[in-house]
Amino acid sequence: MPELPDVEGFRRTLDGVAGRRIARVDVADAGVLRGITARAFARRLKGRRLGHPYRHGKWLVAPTAQDGRDREAGVGGVRVVMLHFGMTGGLLTCPAGRERHPHDRVVLVMEDGSELRYRDQRKLQGIRLVDEETAERTLARLGPDAMSVGEDEFEDVLAGRRGRVKAVLIDQSAVAGLGNLLADEILWRARVNPARPAREVTAREGHRMHGEMRRVLRSAARAGRVPDRPGWLTGHRDRPEPDCPRCGTALRGGRIAGRHTMWCPHCQPDGKDGRDGALGPGGKDGRQPRRLLTPPGRPPAHPPRTPTTTAAASRPRRTRPRWSRGR
Ligand SMILES: [Zn+2]
Repeated sequence: MPELPDVEGFRRTLDGVAGRRIARVDVADAGVLRGITARAFARRLKGRRLGHPYRHGKWLVAPTAQDGRDREAGVGGVRVVMLHFGMTGGLLTCPAGRERHPHDRVVLVMEDGSELRYRDQRKLQGIRLVDEETAERTLARLGPDAMSVGEDEFEDVLAGRRGRVKAVLIDQSAVAGLGNLLADEILWRARVNPARPAREVTAREGHRMHGEMRRVLRSAARAGRVPDRPGWLTGHRDRPEPDCPRCGTALRGGRIAGRHTMWCPHCQPDGKDGRDGALGPGGKDGRQPRRLLTPPGRPPAHPPRTPTTTAAASRPRRTRPRWSRGR
């Protein structure tokens, strides 16, 4: 499933054809178009040039311009292609004349005959063609991008959300770009149990998570995917008998926030006396019963976060870099 690093790879692919003019649009399957017909999509893009793309979370956004016109036309005149890759989508370029794949749903044919192809098997998400304001509105519903979010802002996100820390990490409205693999990888590296309530994550743990998130994302974005290296949790989780790359303990698996989650019970204890009691039995339906991590009458193992973090929450939202900025 494409996560931030995959989409970052697609951004590089799209950036490679920035500046070229679209000679023709072939819509093999209009099922990936959202809010627009195949005919209108093809007509409105034909003859336009692709600008430099911008990524936020798992969204890829590419402005297009008509030579010499849209600059004067202002905001409303710019047409923006928004791509989301769902579970199975991807973007690739092909030289002229290469045979099409059955899952090449939409193909932009450039002036020189080369092609930009949106390939997707399951068609869960797709492509939109919108104006700049609509693009901004769509992105404004997302949390800060996981690759660029600062530590204070990240810790504010954790402190301000109900639910388990794993659920918050993969919630795109909290922080944008992380999927199942990345969330587990980051939590394992930071030694935080995925079932911990996000609000109980300590400042020290939040600091570790933010640092590991940056490291994981930098490395994975270079690879264009979440790599299954032997030193990564991702490299061990699909083994027949998955073990912790760090300590060799058998990994545990369970459903959290409806997603299959892996963690090391030794490296990621549940925060209560270091015991691993995070998940009770019967989690197969993905809905874990809410369990008190602290028995009544005992002080919480992790005291609530100090008010300094709530003061930071009132800071104005970071200004989103505009996709149309010069690059
Ligand atoms: Zn371990």
